[in-house]
Amino acid sequence: MRTGRMVAPAAGRLAAARDVLAGLRTLREPAPPSLAGRVMAQLGPVDSVDSYSRMQTPLWPLLVAWGRDGITAVGRADDPAAFEAEYRSRTGRPVRLVREVPDRLTRAVEKRMRGESVPGLRVDLSGLNEFQRRVLAKTMEIPHGEVRPYAWIAEQIGHPRAQRAVGTALARNPVPFVIPCHRVVRSDGRIGRYGAGGSQSKRAVLQSEGVDPDELERLAQAGIRYIGSDTTRIACFPTCRNARRITAAHRVPFRSARDVTGAGFRACRSCRPFPTAQAA
Ligand SMILES: [Zn+2]
Repeated sequence: MRTGRMVAPAAGRLAAARDVLAGLRTLREPAPPSLAGRVMAQLGPVDSVDSYSRMQTPLWPLLVAWGRDGITAVGRADDPAAFEAEYRSRTGRPVRLVREVPDRLTRAVEKRMRGESVPGLRVDLSGLNEFQRRVLAKTMEIPHGEVRPYAWIAEQIGHPRAQRAVGTALARNPVPFVIPCHRVVRSDGRIGRYGAGGSQSKRAVLQSEGVDPDELERLAQAGIRYIGSDTTRIACFPTCRNARRITAAHRVPFRSARDVTGAGFRACRSCRPFPTAQAA
């Protein structure tokens, strides 16, 4: 799915309308009445309104909004007025309640909630800046059932010191579940807050993906950041699918990247727990 693409349909239509007007001014004769209709058909309805509706999911009911450029927002169903107000302030567009979410979008959201990819799913991230888009695009790469710390996202998008900004961007993720911000945890490994309803719902979503939140908190409290295997001598984030395969007898806990490399282990190429430069 394309998350990073710029979406400015209103601006595009405005520019097209200006071109048409400029063209009309050069006409020597009055435009034929049928022209206006044809122009409108070409430009599309200028005041098209985005829509939203309620959708039932295995976890809880959601509000899902969409416009002509794809899914625009996902939110908890308990406060539709707040959902609408937030929508208007972020996108600058009104959103109206309709009877139901189109089948195609319902299936797409359900698939994303199961951690499946949805080829061709379009997400309209209007109102978000480039940094926020990059954070969300990177978050899309975290596999189902795994978590990564804020620091990892910051590092991966080339802003290693921007952990707080990463946290803020994730808290404002307009499409939770579709973009799995719940899979990003605090840099110390604790679960942390969650934009769409506090840490309890974050725990619930992670649990539904097979992550054990208590185990994550326990490791964080013990200061354990990475788990290595003494047979492969590779270290991972604890939730990496490679780490979960290590049997108890071969698990080696590490507190830092320095400890990992000091013990002669290297970083997993799948979960990339720390930059390889640190391994030198
Ligand atoms: Zn790994």
